[in-house]
Amino acid sequence: MSAADPPASTTPPDTERSPPSDFIREQVRADLADGTNTAIVTRFPPEPNGYLHLGHALSICLNFSVAQEFAGQCNLRFDDTNPVKEEQEFIEAIQRDVNWLGFSWSGEPKYASDNFQQLYDWAEYLINVGSAYIDDLSAEEIRQYRGTLTEPGKLSPYRGRPTKESLDLFRRMKAGEFPDGARVLRAKIDMASGNLNLRDPILYRILRATHPRTGDDWCLYPTYDFAHGQCDAIEGVTHSLCTLEFADHRPLYDWMLDALPVPAVPRQYEFAKLSISHTVLSKRRLTRLVAESHVKGWDDPRMATLSGMRRRGVPAAALRDFIARLSVSKNEGKVEMAMLEHVIRETLNQTAERRMAVLRPLKVVITNYPEGETDWLEAINNPNDPDAGNHKLPFSRELWVERDDFMEDPPKKFFRLGPGREVRLRYAFFITCNEVIKNADGEVTELHCTYDPLTRGGDASDGRKVKGTIHWVSVEHARTAEIRLYTPLYNRADPGADGDFVDDINPDSLEVLSGCKLEPSLDQVPAGTAIQFERTGYFVTDPDGTPDALVYNRTVALRDSWAKAKAKG
Ligand code: ATP
Ligand code: MG
Repeated sequence: MSAADPPASTTPPDTERSPPSDFIREQVRADLADGTNTAIVTRFPPEPNGYLHLGHALSICLNFSVAQEFAGQCNLRFDDTNPVKEEQEFIEAIQRDVNWLGFSWSGEPKYASDNFQQLYDWAEYLINVGSAYIDDLSAEEIRQYRGTLTEPGKLSPYRGRPTKESLDLFRRMKAGEFPDGARVLRAKIDMASGNLNLRDPILYRILRATHPRTGDDWCLYPTYDFAHGQCDAIEGVTHSLCTLEFADHRPLYDWMLDALPVPAVPRQYEFAKLSISHTVLSKRRLTRLVAESHVKGWDDPRMATLSGMRRRGVPAAALRDFIARLSVSKNEGKVEMAMLEHVIRETLNQTAERRMAVLRPLKVVITNYPEGETDWLEAINNPNDPDAGNHKLPFSRELWVERDDFMEDPPKKFFRLGPGREVRLRYAFFITCNEVIKNADGEVTELHCTYDPLTRGGDASDGRKVKGTIHWVSVEHARTAEIRLYTPLYNRADPGADGDFVDDINPDSLEVLSGCKLEPSLDQVPAGTAIQFERTGYFVTDPDGTPDALVYNRTVALRDSWAKAKAKG
């Protein structure tokens, strides 16, 4: 699929923009300048419990670009501490998507699970120094004891448990002596803290689930809070960039690094999540779309996943450019989907070759054109790229035109085909419609037209003008394809704003057209290459298709298709 990704040299927006600047890059610059750090290490830390989405693209671009800009390194680290939801399929998909987006991580991918033994040892260390204890309260009791934002928590009756006893219980937890959920390891911090995260957070829980990497080696797993900062420290991460909801975890992050004999002290910085109108970006919701079959899978072209975007034909360069235009900030805000589409269109407009395809075909017979003859005309590949060259286009007696380009009783402003009207066929000739053929039901089945041989190439030698130019495909030479058109997956700008987001799904988000007619030169275009079908949009082959049964996805129409949805939302 990477063929859909245009070469970097043809994407001026990526390269011409001045170097990005935001509070994170300022921080990094300052840390290098004052010697706090001599080299920068960042990491992208996905949990392998789903596919990456557009929000992750922001985090990927930020972490990898900051490392690149400051000659540092960026790790890919799987945050695989919850085996119940994590799968090898997701681990592989995430690597594919990061690479597709145009980034390579430093060395091998890293995993929190690489450090399970070290984390376990550090947990024993905390017990030994009196900073952690085994709690026998149930999950529900722990919740009740935690208190609220306005009330302090209550001390667990097990908080004063002797170190030796906690250590013994912890080892027996590891040995598998207790059922899931029977006991947890908690840090001993401050049950009265104004920050709930510091009220003796859970560090380990018993969980019997086969882990994608460590199998059944462990029956207890560290929590995110106990794993993340320590893994950062082990990897020598200098700037641990995460989203704002972790700001309240930062005191805990720092507490752990202070309490443990870690080899380095990373610092955490938080930025606002990306959110986009007319879509949902949350693995929990995306998982539900897949599980409940609202879409065909994680890579359904309507999904806001990177694999869905790729399948839909969105170039990685367009996503990078879109992200580069949003500045990384601390303010949560919503970006209009129309802006993403605008950037996609802009990228494809520069790179995609033009071809003709008729989506809803109506036959035209050129009655004064000899039967069995073909005229091979010249068509420009890309008006925005003089080096892209030309290709040949066959013209013959029978043609397909777009059904919508004909009206039997056209209004004044309709400049396309109608009885007695003359139009230009793109790159070919002027034709005039003389006769409308209908079937028994009164439906138009064919148009009989004449062409003017003196207009070859598209201009009349007598200077005569026509107002309309339409696309067409020669019947004899056409390839037939299925074309899938997509409209927004949701009926409103803010799905789920008042109720279940699933109730806002647009039942007509996929329209499948069969029997579409394509010009034959598309045979020479490699699968996965973005193409503009003139007047109808940008398209790409879908992997469901075969050379004998082509399937195309419309990546995006030529004009803003969100205007209507926007008005509703
Ligand atoms: P989700 O809420 O979709 O499940 P997550 O944060 O739980 O996302 P992770 O796999 O833990 O998913 O995320 C990996 C990284 O991507 C984290 O650093 C996270 O902060 C970042 N990230 C996730 N969603 C967004 C978003 N919408 N915008 C920017 N960064 C994001
Ligand atoms: Mg998460």
